[in-house]
Formats: sequence, C-alpha cells, structure tokens
Amino acid sequence: MNPPQEQATLAGTSGTGAATTLKIFVGGRWVDSSAKTTAEVRNPATNGLLARVPMGGAEDVDRAVQAALKAYPAWRATPPVNRVRPMFKFRELLEKNFEEIARICTLEHGKTIEESRSSVRRAVDNVEVACGIPSLMQGASLEDVATGIDSQYFRQPMGVFAAITPFNFPAMVPMWFLPHAIACGNTFVLKPSERVPLSQMRMFELLHEAGFPDGVVNMVHGGKEAVDGILDHPGIQGVSFVGSSPVARYIYKRGAENGKRVQALGGAKNFVLVMPDADMARAATVSTESCFGCAGERCLANSVVLAVGEAYDAIRARLVDEARKIVVGDGVEGGVTMGPVISAAHREKVLDYIEKGIAEGATLALDGRAFKHPKHPDGYYLGPTIFTDVKPDMVIAREEIFGPVLCVMKADTFDAAVEIVKRHDLGNASSIFTSSGKYAREYRWRVEPSMLGVNIGVAAPMAFFPFGGAKGSFFGDLKAHGRDSIEFYTDKKVTITRWF
Ligand code: NAD
Repeated sequence: MNPPQEQATLAGTSGTGAATTLKIFVGGRWVDSSAKTTAEVRNPATNGLLARVPMGGAEDVDRAVQAALKAYPAWRATPPVNRVRPMFKFRELLEKNFEEIARICTLEHGKTIEESRSSVRRAVDNVEVACGIPSLMQGASLEDVATGIDSQYFRQPMGVFAAITPFNFPAMVPMWFLPHAIACGNTFVLKPSERVPLSQMRMFELLHEAGFPDGVVNMVHGGKEAVDGILDHPGIQGVSFVGSSPVARYIYKRGAENGKRVQALGGAKNFVLVMPDADMARAATVSTESCFGCAGERCLANSVVLAVGEAYDAIRARLVDEARKIVVGDGVEGGVTMGPVISAAHREKVLDYIEKGIAEGATLALDGRAFKHPKHPDGYYLGPTIFTDVKPDMVIAREEIFGPVLCVMKADTFDAAVEIVKRHDLGNASSIFTSSGKYAREYRWRVEPSMLGVNIGVAAPMAFFPFGGAKGSFFGDLKAHGRDSIEFYTDKKVTITRWF
C-alpha cells in the first residue's frame, strides 16, 4: 500500500506540497534543478509524503555559485549599515511567520512544536546578532607603531561562502552561518539536508521578500554530489559544515585540499557527570529532558549519565521515573513531549543499538521498542529507552546513537569519571551536576568537550558565543557563530602608513 500523501500546508511557499518537486533558489529566482533524480521528504510522525527534493550535483552548485559571484562586487560595495537593512526586515518577517516556520519544522523533522519554536527562536537570535555587523566587523588601529607610522587593519569579506547542514535542526543550523556571512559582505550558497529542506524553502522566500539583492543568497538541494560540487568549486572561498563526524572529517580534508577555509562540526557523545552532592531531583529531570528532547537527535543531548559513587543508586530509579512521564506522539499535538525519529531507517538503526546493548550485558531498565502510535502506525516512533550498568567499552557507550536511548554508567570516583570522559573522542559537550564549586571548576579545567554545562543539561551557547566541540567532534579552528564567525567570514587587511 502506498503511504498517504500530505499537504504540508506551506502557504505561499514555492511549489511545496506532496506531489511537487522542490525548486532551487538561484539569482533571486525559484528555478528547476538540473537533477536527474529526486528523494522523498516524509513526515516522520505519519510517514506521509510532503514533497520531493531534487538530488542535484555540481551543475546546480555552479549555477548558484555563478549567481553569487555576480552579486558579490555590488554587495561587497554596499556599506555595512545598508547591508543590515534587509537583515532587520528579515528578522521582522521571521517574527511574523514564526508559527508557520515552527510548524513546517515539526512536519518535516518530527520534533514537538514547542521544540521547533525554541529552535526558530535561536535562528532569530542569530539574525539579530548579524544586524550588529557595523560594530562587530570593525578592525583596529594603533598610532605610532614607529615614529610617524600608523597601522590599522580592516576586516574584508572574501567572496562566496557555502554551508552544508544536517537534518536535526532544519530552521536553526543554517542560520548559524548565513546571516553572519552575508552581513560581512560575502554572498552565499546553502545546501540544507535533503531530508528536511522545507523550513529553508520558506525562510528563503522571506529572505527574498526582505530585499536582499538577487544572488546574495542561493540554495541548492541534494546529498553527496551537491556537497562534492561545493567542495570542488573554485569560486567558493570557504565552507561551513554541520553533520556526522565521518562526513565532517571528509569535508575538512577535501575542502582544505581545494584551498578553502573550512569549519566542520561533527557528531557527539555527551556525558553528564552527577556528583553525590548534586540536587538529584533536578539532575534527573534536567538529564532526562536533555537526553530525550528532540527524540535524542540533538548534538547537545546528554546521552550518558555518569554517576559518581553513591550518586549512581540515588539517580538511577529517578531517571526511569522521569522518562516514564514522557508523552510520545505526533509533535503537532498538544501535550506531546517527544516526537518520532527522522526516518524508518534511522529507527531500525536505533533498534539495532538497543539489541547490541542487551547482547553486551547492559540492563534494559526502560524498554521503548514496542511503542506504537494508535493513529499513525507507520510513523517512526520509539519510546524512551534506558540502559543501566553500562560499561565504557560497550558499543552503546562508545558510539553516537542519536535516538531516545540513555546510558547510565557508574564511576567510583571523580577522577575515574574524568578519565572516562577524556577517553571518548566525540567531545562535543558535557555537563556536571554538583553543589561544589571546586568540582565544577576542576571538571571545566580537565575535560575537553568545549561546551560545558554546570547544573545545566543542554549546554547550548547563545548566538553571541562560539558553538562547536573538540577532538573528533570538530574539525577546524573557528567555531560557529559568535565572534568566531566574524573571523571565519572575513580576512584582515593590515596597512602600515607613513606620510611625508
Ligand atoms: P550527515 O553527516 O548524514 O549529513 C549532514 C550533511 O552532509 C547533509 O547535508 C548531507 O546531505 C551531507 N552528507 C551526508 N553524507 C554525505 C557524504 N557521504 N558525503 C558528503 N556529504 C554528505 O548528518 P545528519 O544525519 O544529517 O545529522 C546528524 C549528525 O549531525 C549527528 O552526528 C549530530 O551529532 C551532528 N550534529 C552536530 C552538531 C554540532 O554542533 N556539532 C549540530 C547538529 C548535528
């Protein structure tokens, strides 16, 4: 039986809706892709077909880059105060269409409407930061570097930048890059995840309505072929990437080989350390939200609770109690606190991890495998799952599961816990729950994950701070948003001047 088709009710979007193939946005126009094949975009909550996305390649990328190159000289010559006028307008339009974007995000991704709203809010935050570019991209100067000689540096845009983004935050992650890049005077090509292109379709309509000149922002669709088209294109100066670590490593290497700037944010395995002196009730509630929010498909999900000494017995049962309160369902429904995972294939992958955990001897303290939605039997649902007695060398403790599975582990001492965290390669984020400032400081000092929560479950840096992990979780040096993005999207020109 064919799965049902759904109207995504994307009022005003360019050709979205079940039967349509999405267009690409090039030079200020929605045009057909030159792709030979398409992929389906499905609603994970129902398995209904939302749209078809063209799987474009180098040809589409080249069209977008040519448009961006053409737009660049005039955009670069536009004073920063004028460049941010359409950015302010874009912000207004995002506010006006906030609910619609959040709804599209939930339809294509599956997260709850509340989670979508939070992510759209974070997207708006980034646009707001970029509105401050006349202050942010200033250089510096020093009079009399030698007698009668002055020196100064300006920040200058570099040309065309591109971003390649993942499925888990369809509305937000592209906005970690696009607003900063274009506010700095560059032009831009976005390739959103082929699994969730619809939020960006709507947001690009708003970018167009905001009045950015044709060619300043462009969007192509596709997977690896489009990505390779970006990495190999000589007209692109730099690439921002967010996704899994193996792909991040590949992007970093191939982009750098082709002489580009690259920032590549990869996968995560985030540990939350719970000390015996922590507020256990709070630690349990916050860790549960952190692990199961967005069905565990969050690079900041604390997917391993590492309890020290007697904290293990104090928190284990509480975590199970908290997870039992989670209401699984279609994210658009009120009261639902956890939606489905992104695809049927990903559901199978998570189930496979659960089987591995059982086979390795972890205790299945909460089993979410059997969950079925009464109205949507074909949705990609899983209930929350918790393993206790997890050991650091088990597959479920080592690999990123990216689903609603929490691993609970014990360490005898603080030092032993720190060693476990340090041994792990995917050092994106971590949290510690404690009432001791000494342990909190010591933890921050010793472990590598570079986004750290102290009595906070999701250590998400705001738009004006740098976002990105460490070790195998990050490839590059300049992180996403915050001041790092101004560094990434500009070059510094130094002048040394003497007048006779
Ligand atoms: P993914 O790596 O499969 O895809 C990311 C992007 O790369 C997509 O646009 C996709 O089209 C493209 N891509 C996929 N396979 C490719 C290949 N072989 N060659 C070239 N390009 C390819 O990631 P995903 O499944 O979309 O997203 C989930 C991953 O993203 C998780 O690992 C998660 O931890 C990570 N993530 C990290 C952060 C962070 O800040 N570090 C934030 C969000 C998500």
